[in-house]
Amino acid sequence: MRTSDVFDLLRDGKPWTRAQLAQATGLARSTVAVRVDTLMRLGLVAPYGDGTSTGGRPPSLFALNPAARVVVGVDVGASHVRAVLADLSGDLLGEVEVRLSVDKGPDEVLGWVVDAVRTLLRSGRRKAGELAAIGVGLPGPVEHSTGRPISPPIMPGWDRYDVPGHLQRHYAVPVLIDNDVNIMALGERRAHLPEVDDLVLIKVATGIGAGIVSGGRLQRGAQGTAGDLGHIRVPRADGIACRCGNDGCLEAVAAGPALAAALRAQGVPAETGQDVVDLVRQGDPVALQVVRQAGRDVGDVVATMVNLVNPSVVVIGGQLALAGEHLLAGIREVVYTRSLPLATEHLRIIPSRAGTEAGVLGAVAMAVEHTLSPASIEAASETLAASG
Ligand SMILES: [Zn+2]
Repeated sequence: MRTSDVFDLLRDGKPWTRAQLAQATGLARSTVAVRVDTLMRLGLVAPYGDGTSTGGRPPSLFALNPAARVVVGVDVGASHVRAVLADLSGDLLGEVEVRLSVDKGPDEVLGWVVDAVRTLLRSGRRKAGELAAIGVGLPGPVEHSTGRPISPPIMPGWDRYDVPGHLQRHYAVPVLIDNDVNIMALGERRAHLPEVDDLVLIKVATGIGAGIVSGGRLQRGAQGTAGDLGHIRVPRADGIACRCGNDGCLEAVAAGPALAAALRAQGVPAETGQDVVDLVRQGDPVALQVVRQAGRDVGDVVATMVNLVNPSVVVIGGQLALAGEHLLAGIREVVYTRSLPLATEHLRIIPSRAGTEAGVLGAVAMAVEHTLSPASIEAASETLAASG
């Protein structure tokens, strides 16, 4: 039994007594007292309410102290960067944002992030020593074990760049990196679907990808590329070239640039995914039909995914989800026809509620999860013990 076993119970945020902790862990009360003392010295646990701390007796109720430390969550998009400060319960304490294209390269983008962390700490009146971790989402494939982007298509200059190393030269804290879709799935779940253990978030924007949460855990796969749906072959894309070098990919017919091209081919001027969304909102009949068809194409792949991983919720996010019901209708049409009846019996296909906040919320969730993990708690306790 370790300090983290006691902490694992306290993480629920509810108050516990030493006796309850002893009963739940099977530890002697004297051992629990030592563990709780360590956690209080780390600042992670604090007396709860006024308890019965009269007469010099130690307080009897304890709970997680979310204000003890802070984390920074960063969402690097194709053309913007957003960073937030949050406490250990995930409550946001500050936010900064900038229009900055990711193709400016890691020095410029991460330079902004380094300054943003300093700004957020200062405006939140927090010391650098209170910072526990930084979570970052990047718009491309990330090797999870190293935090390095691997051949990211829209990020020239970033291939295998040591992103954690860069930030750790300025802040000596753990830095967690993941791709944007994975952190969106974490953010959506934390903010709006905490009770859902099996969900898939599909991002439909300039690219198409999925973040998969199964059994309550984000599934990254062996290298971190699980859920890379954009380059799965779909029938309607046969013979259509994709930016990845293959042809027949989902992205080649259903991502933002493909939809804008489809509109231009029918005489409707459109350059970007945002143009497509604007046209849908204006009720342009060609745009409605193009987006509905994109929904069916995405639905082809999602139907397969539903059969493979059996989620209870599929969340549709990303820029094209802002086109509203038309994309969802196309996806639902195919998924409910093509997936197994048992898999779709209780399946909900819903739009993202976190929207543009999903990324930073997920980056915060990733940083908090790491900070409160058993390994981190053990390491902190050992450092505390070594320092006397
Ligand atoms: Zn492709």
